Amino acid sequence: MKTGALPKQLDLRGLAARGVQINGTVSPDDLPRLAESGIGIVDLGSAAFDFRRDEEARYVVAVSVEVKVVMQCQRCLGDMEVPITTASLMACVWTDEEAASLPATYEPLLVEDAADLSDIAEEEILLAIPVSPVHETECKSEAQQAALAAEVEGPEKVEDTGERESPFAVLERLKS
Ligand SMILES: [Zn+2]
Repeated sequence: MKTGALPKQLDLRGLAARGVQINGTVSPDDLPRLAESGIGIVDLGSAAFDFRRDEEARYVVAVSVEVKVVMQCQRCLGDMEVPITTASLMACVWTDEEAASLPATYEPLLVEDAADLSDIAEEEILLAIPVSPVHETECKSEAQQAALAAEVEGPEKVEDTGERESPFAVLERLKS
């Protein structure tokens, strides 16, 4: 299994017939539609494709993508990193009719002869990104958040070392 850029113009049905697995990196170049929406990624993402045929002889692929995107927080308009993890099971179809007749476990993947794996990975990311992301905690700078985190950690640790009577000990005393 090799990693590197995701290969382009692949015969997906041929890969499924041979039961091929492909892992690759997802780079900003692979994501033109995300870039158009002003969404970038942090470092490189990764994508894994597991091609096979199912018991009905469909050409199927399990796709998982992991990437960290940078989006604009809809509350403070600052940048925020959003980790995205996707997992889908897709079946290659030629037509919309064929797509409509797929079992619900499969997402239709409309492919004619060849497809770019990066296109599939991008589609997965586009479907998974939040519509209106906001910072999970409050919209504070990283330094402010770090200070807050330190404050929260302090008292909790002290409390943990305090002795507490176990519920069993209480029960024992009640019995006697
Ligand atoms: Zn914010």
